Amino acid sequence: MIPITPSKIVCVGRNYVAHAKELGNELPERPMLFFKPPSALIGSGDAIELPAASAQVEYEGEIGVVIGRRLRRADGRAAEQGIRGYICANDVTARDLQKPDGQWGRAKGFDTFCPVGERVAEGLDWRALSVVTRVNGDERQRAPAADMHFSIPELLAYISGVMTLEPGDLILTGTPAGVGRLSPGDVVEVEIPGVGKLSNPVRSAPAT
Ligand code: ZN
Repeated sequence: MIPITPSKIVCVGRNYVAHAKELGNELPERPMLFFKPPSALIGSGDAIELPAASAQVEYEGEIGVVIGRRLRRADGRAAEQGIRGYICANDVTARDLQKPDGQWGRAKGFDTFCPVGERVAEGLDWRALSVVTRVNGDERQRAPAADMHFSIPELLAYISGVMTLEPGDLILTGTPAGVGRLSPGDVVEVEIPGVGKLSNPVRSAPAT
């Protein structure tokens, strides 16, 4: 079950210092935005399918923000008030396609590349959130939202200065250090304590 029907999924790249460093990148001066298509959404328990076009598909555990109220050119305070809640998310990425393609539409946009949790948790303070990723039970990522380069209200204010955010829209707020490859047979889990757990098996995409 997918508890949201976003008109768009806006993602933020390189928003944790340690993750930018692990991929050899500088921290951006402004939030680095890209999109995932809503067709990439799957629910908890659904399989992530590794496309034949990539030999290096990686997990990125992230805190997802679900918009509750239309935001257009919002300041940080209005942005915070426009949040409906938080959801576990995995920004699945074909790492080996990012650089050669230049644009990230393909690397981030394959079907099944946007798993989200079963519920939107409301009434939480973003300052208290953290995200944990496990593969086959082994912890790979763990970081508090406080480690973000741009905070959640700063991100929403910036994005809403570009595009109107509609209720139900999903924002993926960047991944911490510790990204890594997924193989057929793996199970990847993203947990946000207080929000829930998202778990997905991994398999090769069918040939046709
Ligand atoms: Zn990401």
